[in-house]
Amino acid sequence: MNSKRAIAQLLQHLAGVGVTHVPHVEFPKPVKPATKPAPAEKKAALNPGGTERAMKSGRQSPAKSNLASESRRPSSGLRSVKELQVTSADRPDPSREVQALVEQKFSGPTHKADALCSLAGIVANCRRCDELATTRKQTVFGVGDPNARIMFIGEAPGADEDRQGEPFVGEAGQLLNKIVTACKLKREDIYICNVLRCRPPGNRNPQPQEAANCREFLDAQISIVQPEYIICWGAVAAQNLLNETRAVGKLRRQFFTYNNAKVMCTYHPSYLLRNPSAKKEVWEDMKFFMLELGVELA
Ligand code: SF4
Repeated sequence: MNSKRAIAQLLQHLAGVGVTHVPHVEFPKPVKPATKPAPAEKKAALNPGGTERAMKSGRQSPAKSNLASESRRPSSGLRSVKELQVTSADRPDPSREVQALVEQKFSGPTHKADALCSLAGIVANCRRCDELATTRKQTVFGVGDPNARIMFIGEAPGADEDRQGEPFVGEAGQLLNKIVTACKLKREDIYICNVLRCRPPGNRNPQPQEAANCREFLDAQISIVQPEYIICWGAVAAQNLLNETRAVGKLRRQFFTYNNAKVMCTYHPSYLLRNPSAKKEVWEDMKFFMLELGVELA
Protein backbone atom coordinates (compact mmCIF):
# COMPACT_ATOMS: atom_id res chain seq x y z
CA MET A 1 0.00 0.00 0.00
CA ASN A 2 1.33 3.42 -0.92
CA SER A 3 1.58 6.13 1.74
CA LYS A 4 -1.06 8.50 0.23
CA ARG A 5 -3.66 5.75 0.20
CA ALA A 6 -2.82 4.74 3.77
CA ILE A 7 -3.21 8.35 4.99
CA ALA A 8 -6.54 8.68 3.15
CA GLN A 9 -7.83 5.50 4.81
CA LEU A 10 -6.66 6.69 8.25
CA LEU A 11 -8.42 10.07 7.86
CA GLN A 12 -11.62 8.28 6.70
CA HIS A 13 -11.43 6.09 9.79
CA LEU A 14 -10.88 9.05 12.11
CA ALA A 15 -13.82 10.92 10.54
CA GLY A 16 -15.92 7.80 11.11
CA VAL A 17 -15.18 7.89 14.85
CA GLY A 18 -15.89 11.64 15.09
CA VAL A 19 -12.37 13.12 14.81
CA THR A 20 -12.50 16.08 12.43
CA HIS A 21 -9.20 17.87 13.29
CA VAL A 22 -5.75 16.52 13.83
CA PRO A 23 -2.92 18.58 15.45
CA HIS A 24 -0.28 20.02 13.13
CA VAL A 25 3.05 18.40 13.79
CA GLU A 26 6.39 19.84 12.50
CA PHE A 27 8.62 17.07 11.35
CA PRO A 28 12.34 17.69 11.26
CA LYS A 29 13.78 18.24 7.81
CA PRO A 30 15.76 15.32 6.51
CA VAL A 31 19.44 15.64 7.37
CA LYS A 32 21.90 15.20 4.54
CA PRO A 33 24.59 12.70 5.36
CA ALA A 34 27.87 14.41 6.30
CA THR A 35 30.44 14.72 3.53
CA LYS A 36 33.02 12.05 3.89
CA PRO A 37 36.28 13.70 5.00
CA ALA A 38 39.28 13.57 2.71
CA PRO A 39 41.79 10.97 3.91
CA ALA A 40 44.31 13.61 5.11
CA GLU A 41 41.67 15.52 7.15
CA LYS A 42 40.38 12.31 8.67
CA LYS A 43 43.89 11.36 9.71
CA ALA A 44 44.51 14.81 11.28
CA ALA A 45 41.27 14.65 13.25
CA LEU A 46 42.07 11.21 14.58
CA ASN A 47 45.71 12.03 15.22
CA PRO A 48 45.92 15.71 16.24
CA GLY A 49 49.55 15.44 17.36
CA GLY A 50 50.63 14.18 13.97
CA THR A 51 51.30 17.63 12.47
CA GLU A 52 53.56 18.57 15.36
CA ARG A 53 55.49 15.34 15.07
CA ALA A 54 55.85 15.97 11.34
CA MET A 55 57.39 19.38 12.17
CA LYS A 56 59.82 17.85 14.62
CA SER A 57 60.83 15.20 12.15
CA GLY A 58 61.59 17.95 9.62
CA ARG A 59 58.97 16.87 7.12
CA GLN A 60 57.21 20.22 7.46
CA SER A 61 58.89 23.39 8.73
CA PRO A 62 57.05 25.24 11.53
CA ALA A 63 56.98 28.44 9.50
CA LYS A 64 55.37 26.69 6.56
CA SER A 65 52.95 25.01 8.90
CA ASN A 66 51.99 28.33 10.47
CA LEU A 67 51.47 29.92 7.09
CA ALA A 68 49.24 27.04 6.13
CA SER A 69 47.31 27.45 9.36
CA GLU A 70 46.94 31.21 8.73
CA SER A 71 45.64 30.67 5.23
CA ARG A 72 42.97 28.37 6.62
CA ARG A 73 41.75 30.99 9.08
CA PRO A 74 38.45 32.52 7.87
CA SER A 75 38.38 36.32 8.06
CA SER A 76 34.89 36.40 9.59
CA GLY A 77 36.11 35.04 12.92
CA LEU A 78 33.89 31.94 12.54
CA ARG A 79 35.90 28.77 12.47
CA SER A 80 35.39 26.12 9.84
CA VAL A 81 34.71 22.51 10.69
CA LYS A 82 38.21 21.69 9.51
CA GLU A 83 39.69 24.17 12.04
CA LEU A 84 37.53 22.86 14.86
CA GLN A 85 38.86 19.40 14.15
CA VAL A 86 42.41 20.72 14.42
CA THR A 87 41.79 22.72 17.62
CA SER A 88 40.41 19.65 19.33
CA ALA A 89 44.05 18.65 19.84
CA ASP A 90 45.26 18.38 23.44
CA ARG A 91 47.80 21.14 22.77
CA PRO A 92 46.05 24.02 20.98
CA ASP A 93 47.82 25.69 18.13
CA PRO A 94 49.65 28.72 19.69
CA SER A 95 49.11 30.78 16.55
CA ARG A 96 45.37 30.80 17.08
CA GLU A 97 45.82 31.88 20.69
CA VAL A 98 48.15 34.69 19.64
CA GLN A 99 45.70 35.82 16.97
CA ALA A 100 42.90 35.97 19.52
CA LEU A 101 45.06 38.13 21.80
CA VAL A 102 46.06 40.70 19.21
CA GLU A 103 42.58 41.02 17.72
CA GLN A 104 41.29 42.53 20.95
CA LYS A 105 40.49 46.25 21.22
CA PHE A 106 42.75 47.38 24.04
CA SER A 107 41.05 49.59 26.57
CA GLY A 108 44.17 50.76 28.43
CA PRO A 109 47.52 49.86 30.01
CA THR A 110 46.06 47.20 32.31
CA HIS A 111 44.37 45.43 29.43
CA LYS A 112 47.63 45.57 27.43
CA ALA A 113 49.59 44.27 30.43
CA ASP A 114 47.17 41.33 30.74
CA ALA A 115 47.51 40.55 27.03
CA LEU A 116 51.32 40.67 27.24
CA CYS A 117 51.21 38.40 30.28
CA SER A 118 49.09 35.87 28.38
CA LEU A 119 51.42 36.10 25.38
CA ALA A 120 54.46 35.55 27.62
CA GLY A 121 52.78 32.37 28.88
CA ILE A 122 52.37 31.11 25.31
CA VAL A 123 55.98 31.99 24.47
CA ALA A 124 57.27 30.19 27.57
CA ASN A 125 55.94 26.92 26.15
CA CYS A 126 57.13 27.53 22.58
CA ARG A 127 59.39 24.87 21.06
CA ARG A 128 59.33 25.91 17.42
CA CYS A 129 63.13 26.14 17.26
CA ASP A 130 64.33 22.72 18.38
CA GLU A 131 67.88 23.73 19.23
CA LEU A 132 66.99 26.93 21.11
CA ALA A 133 64.16 25.31 23.04
CA THR A 134 66.54 22.57 24.15
CA THR A 135 69.45 24.82 25.18
CA ARG A 136 67.67 27.85 26.71
CA LYS A 137 67.38 28.29 30.46
CA GLN A 138 64.16 30.23 29.93
CA THR A 139 62.44 32.37 27.34
CA VAL A 140 63.19 36.11 27.45
CA PHE A 141 59.93 37.76 26.53
CA GLY A 142 60.14 41.51 26.99
CA VAL A 143 60.07 44.15 29.68
CA GLY A 144 58.86 47.70 30.25
CA ASP A 145 55.79 49.86 29.97
CA PRO A 146 52.98 47.95 28.17
CA ASN A 147 51.69 51.33 26.99
CA ALA A 148 55.09 52.73 25.95
CA ARG A 149 55.47 55.34 23.19
CA ILE A 150 58.89 53.90 22.39
CA MET A 151 59.83 50.28 21.76
CA PHE A 152 63.40 49.00 21.53
CA ILE A 153 64.05 45.85 19.52
CA GLY A 154 67.36 44.03 19.88
CA GLU A 155 68.72 40.83 18.47
CA ALA A 156 68.46 37.89 20.89
CA PRO A 157 69.11 37.11 24.55
CA GLY A 158 72.72 36.53 25.59
CA ALA A 159 73.97 34.50 28.55
CA ASP A 160 72.98 37.13 31.17
CA GLU A 161 69.54 37.60 29.66
CA ASP A 162 69.01 33.84 29.45
CA ARG A 163 69.89 33.57 33.15
CA GLN A 164 67.78 36.53 34.32
CA GLY A 165 64.88 36.28 31.87
CA GLU A 166 65.09 39.97 30.89
CA PRO A 167 66.41 41.58 27.69
CA PHE A 168 69.45 43.90 27.74
CA VAL A 169 70.76 43.19 31.24
CA GLY A 170 74.39 42.24 30.39
CA GLU A 171 77.25 44.56 29.53
CA ALA A 172 75.48 45.73 26.39
CA GLY A 173 72.38 46.37 28.48
CA GLN A 174 74.37 48.58 30.85
CA LEU A 175 75.57 50.63 27.90
CA LEU A 176 72.01 50.86 26.60
CA ASN A 177 70.92 52.19 30.00
CA LYS A 178 73.58 54.93 29.77
CA ILE A 179 72.33 55.92 26.32
CA VAL A 180 68.74 56.01 27.62
CA THR A 181 69.72 58.22 30.56
CA ALA A 182 71.77 60.54 28.33
CA CYS A 183 68.66 60.97 26.18
CA LYS A 184 66.70 62.05 29.30
CA LEU A 185 64.52 58.97 28.98
CA LYS A 186 63.75 56.30 31.59
CA ARG A 187 64.24 52.61 30.83
CA GLU A 188 61.00 51.70 32.59
CA ASP A 189 59.04 54.01 30.23
CA ILE A 190 60.26 52.05 27.20
CA TYR A 191 59.16 48.59 26.08
CA ILE A 192 62.18 46.38 25.29
CA CYS A 193 62.25 43.05 23.44
CA ASN A 194 64.26 41.12 20.87
CA VAL A 195 63.83 39.46 17.49
CA LEU A 196 64.30 36.09 19.28
CA ARG A 197 62.95 35.10 22.66
CA CYS A 198 65.49 32.31 23.22
CA ARG A 199 69.26 32.49 23.43
CA PRO A 200 71.15 31.10 20.42
CA PRO A 201 73.91 28.82 21.78
CA GLY A 202 77.31 30.51 21.96
CA ASN A 203 75.62 33.85 21.15
CA ARG A 204 75.64 33.00 17.46
CA ASN A 205 73.48 35.11 15.14
CA PRO A 206 69.83 34.09 14.87
CA GLN A 207 69.18 31.88 11.87
CA PRO A 208 66.57 33.17 9.39
CA GLN A 209 64.25 30.27 10.19
CA GLU A 210 64.46 31.06 13.92
CA ALA A 211 63.65 34.72 13.27
CA ALA A 212 60.73 33.63 11.09
CA ASN A 213 59.50 31.28 13.83
CA CYS A 214 59.58 34.05 16.43
CA ARG A 215 58.21 36.83 14.23
CA GLU A 216 54.64 36.15 15.20
CA PHE A 217 55.48 36.92 18.84
CA LEU A 218 57.37 40.12 17.96
CA ASP A 219 54.48 41.31 15.81
CA ALA A 220 52.05 40.47 18.60
CA GLN A 221 54.07 42.54 21.09
CA ILE A 222 54.06 45.47 18.65
CA SER A 223 50.30 45.08 18.09
CA ILE A 224 49.59 45.06 21.82
CA VAL A 225 51.93 47.89 22.92
CA GLN A 226 51.18 49.98 19.80
CA PRO A 227 54.32 52.13 20.11
CA GLU A 228 54.64 55.41 18.21
CA TYR A 229 58.36 54.82 17.72
CA ILE A 230 60.57 51.77 17.37
CA ILE A 231 64.35 51.78 17.55
CA CYS A 232 66.00 48.74 15.97
CA TRP A 233 69.35 48.13 17.65
CA GLY A 234 71.68 46.39 15.20
CA ALA A 235 71.42 44.72 11.81
CA VAL A 236 69.44 41.67 12.93
CA ALA A 237 66.60 43.81 14.32
CA ALA A 238 66.66 46.34 11.47
CA GLN A 239 66.84 43.83 8.64
CA ASN A 240 64.26 41.46 10.12
CA LEU A 241 61.68 44.06 11.06
CA LEU A 242 61.97 46.06 7.86
CA ASN A 243 62.69 43.12 5.54
CA GLU A 244 65.89 44.92 4.53
CA THR A 245 69.20 43.62 3.25
CA ARG A 246 71.15 46.88 3.58
CA ALA A 247 73.68 47.32 6.37
CA VAL A 248 72.74 49.42 9.41
CA GLY A 249 75.12 52.13 8.19
CA LYS A 250 72.79 52.63 5.20
CA LEU A 251 69.62 52.62 7.30
CA ARG A 252 70.65 55.21 9.93
CA ARG A 253 69.40 58.80 10.24
CA GLN A 254 66.02 58.23 8.63
CA PHE A 255 62.59 57.01 9.65
CA PHE A 256 60.86 53.98 8.20
CA THR A 257 57.28 52.95 8.92
CA TYR A 258 56.16 49.65 10.38
CA ASN A 259 52.45 49.31 11.13
CA ASN A 260 51.71 52.69 12.70
CA ALA A 261 55.17 53.21 14.20
CA LYS A 262 58.08 55.32 12.97
CA VAL A 263 61.20 53.16 12.96
CA MET A 264 64.80 54.28 13.36
CA CYS A 265 67.83 51.97 13.09
CA THR A 266 71.20 52.29 14.76
CA TYR A 267 74.12 50.15 15.91
CA HIS A 268 73.71 47.52 18.63
CA PRO A 269 75.34 48.34 21.99
CA SER A 270 77.36 45.08 21.66
CA TYR A 271 78.87 46.51 18.48
CA LEU A 272 79.76 49.67 20.41
CA LEU A 273 81.56 47.59 23.04
CA ARG A 274 83.73 46.11 20.28
CA ASN A 275 83.98 49.37 18.32
CA PRO A 276 83.88 52.30 20.77
CA SER A 277 84.55 54.78 17.97
CA ALA A 278 81.01 54.11 16.67
CA LYS A 279 79.53 55.61 19.86
CA LYS A 280 79.52 59.08 18.35
CA GLU A 281 77.44 57.82 15.43
CA VAL A 282 74.89 56.31 17.78
CA TRP A 283 74.82 59.58 19.69
CA GLU A 284 74.11 61.43 16.42
CA ASP A 285 71.29 58.95 15.76
CA MET A 286 69.83 59.49 19.21
CA LYS A 287 69.96 63.28 18.81
CA PHE A 288 68.12 62.84 15.49
CA PHE A 289 65.57 60.61 17.19
CA MET A 290 65.02 62.85 20.22
CA LEU A 291 64.57 65.89 18.01
CA GLU A 292 61.61 64.07 16.46
CA LEU A 293 60.20 63.84 20.00
CA GLY A 294 60.81 67.57 20.49
CA VAL A 295 63.87 67.19 22.73
CA GLU A 296 67.10 68.87 21.64
CA LEU A 297 70.20 67.13 22.97
CA ALA A 298 73.60 68.85 23.18
S1 SF4 B 1 63.12 31.68 19.58
FE1 SF4 B 1 60.94 32.19 19.54
S2 SF4 B 1 60.04 30.76 18.07
FE2 SF4 B 1 62.07 29.93 18.63
S3 SF4 B 1 61.62 28.52 20.35
FE3 SF4 B 1 62.13 30.52 21.23
S4 SF4 B 1 60.14 31.55 21.54
FE4 SF4 B 1 59.81 29.84 20.09
